[in-house]
Amino acid sequence: MASLKSLQEIPLDLILINTPEYIYWKNVDSVYLGCNKNFARMAGLQQPKDILGKTDYDLPWTNKNYAELYLQEDGYIVQTGHAIHKNEILLETPQNEEILLSLTKKPLFNEQGKIIGILGIYMDITLRKKMEELQQAKLTAEAANVAKTEFIANMSHDIRTPLTGVISMARILEERKQDPEEKQYAHWLHESGEQLLDLLNGVLDVISAGNLTEQDVHEEHFSLRENLRAIERLEVPAIKAKDLELRVQVDEGIPDNIISDRIKLHRTLLNLLGNAIKFTKKGHIILSVKLVELRGKDVKIEFRVADTGIGIPPELQDKIFDPFYRVNPTYKGIYRGHGLGLHIAQRYVALLGGEIQMKSKLGQGTVFFFTLTLKLAEPLAVTHQKTRESALDKMELIAEKKIKSNKTPRDLPTKEMPHLLLVEDNFMGLKAIEMLVVQLGYRFTSAMNAEQAFALIKKTDFDLVLTDIGLPDNSGIDLTRQIREWERNLSNKIIPIIGLTAHAENQVKTECLDSGINEVLSKPASLEVIRMVLAKFLKNKF
Ligand code: ADP
Repeated sequence: MASLKSLQEIPLDLILINTPEYIYWKNVDSVYLGCNKNFARMAGLQQPKDILGKTDYDLPWTNKNYAELYLQEDGYIVQTGHAIHKNEILLETPQNEEILLSLTKKPLFNEQGKIIGILGIYMDITLRKKMEELQQAKLTAEAANVAKTEFIANMSHDIRTPLTGVISMARILEERKQDPEEKQYAHWLHESGEQLLDLLNGVLDVISAGNLTEQDVHEEHFSLRENLRAIERLEVPAIKAKDLELRVQVDEGIPDNIISDRIKLHRTLLNLLGNAIKFTKKGHIILSVKLVELRGKDVKIEFRVADTGIGIPPELQDKIFDPFYRVNPTYKGIYRGHGLGLHIAQRYVALLGGEIQMKSKLGQGTVFFFTLTLKLAEPLAVTHQKTRESALDKMELIAEKKIKSNKTPRDLPTKEMPHLLLVEDNFMGLKAIEMLVVQLGYRFTSAMNAEQAFALIKKTDFDLVLTDIGLPDNSGIDLTRQIREWERNLSNKIIPIIGLTAHAENQVKTECLDSGINEVLSKPASLEVIRMVLAKFLKNKF
């Protein structure tokens, strides 16, 4: 610590003279007795001592009107002993700068309490004001953003609901029509609807992906291999249709139980794989998952999707991640798409802490790859995993049999099949879900609002509830809360509840899960998704 002596050597008036505020002092007759450097500069003087003996009438920065005003103020202070505060005084300095000041003028008392002068302190608040304005602009922009997001969410819901109805009905028509021409029309209708929904989902994904932050990363514990198998299963029909070969290679050393945002990883790989299939005419696609490093509780994994497809011209390779960019736009050729998949994949990988890269040779093929550091999880109990898998397999077999035998629910063996409660206010939406459930061979009872649903739940022993979230009377979220409350009071068994929502954003999903809904699906849920989810929650029924 420095000695007290050396500290005392700094004269007080030197501190005063150099303070960053603008300070002056006058006698009771408004004659300046001194000021600091900043005030002298602001008043257009060479140095502080130039102010001695001057009044406001003599200073270059004041005109007569101001000088009179200052004189009045000084008189008021001397007479009353009160201070004067002024905020936001805009001043042009002799250096032609505009500064915003706040001012405090107060009486100076001697030791006997007599007023002997006036002390004035100006503070430069230009920067503070700018910050406040910026803060305000930020708040306004944030409010506008919230309004925009809400608007998009509502639009999304309002477009999806009827569109889902159109698609589902077209799908039913396509399946039922016997006349080839009518079947074809229904097929086109179905396909166009799917494309429109795809575009809508893509646009919404881009909008929400743009707004995503690290808080939107939802980590969960899952089996990497099971997830890769699910992706493979989804792509098998497209692979077969194009007579390609799909190889999935996973390094044995990669632990299976990991923690990450499963959905984002799933979507990314699905987008890359979908592209690989789309842009490959013959040959193979390889999805490889390589172990880079296993360290402590982390595992570094490289994901690669390689194809033997058309490739991407070198000069366009840095554009393909831009939203809506496509090397072969629709008007040029045969490839469908909206140019959004890679943009979303890039965003998702970045959120997961990686960077998506690519290499491509025109006419030979393309490879997309990225490396992620994922957390390791304790293995799921082996028995649990096994039951889950075998329940899933069994379920799929049964569902397949039902589809093949093409029976209606009334023909199906009833008693042993799980009984579902379907809750959906949109008639077409309800019919579509009923169709799916029939295809999977379950029994069902339908309700078109929350009140009906709750009444049914109280008197029937359902195995699972599949409910729309946006019901007319009470939302699916409120219905779930009501059911959970009722279960708690009766110490009853807990019914799995699956929510179906046309809302795309995570916030709605989080709200659903918080209410006690076990899983949330986006509308329209495909047969495959419904099959998987039902199998997961009804595993004990087989
Ligand atoms: P989309 O596939 O819907 O057009 P993407 O954002 O997924 O949109 O891809 C953007 C563009 O990048 C594609 O239109 C295509 O031109 C090119 N591309 C992406 N993946 C591949 C690939 N595996 N092989 C060749 N070109 C590709």
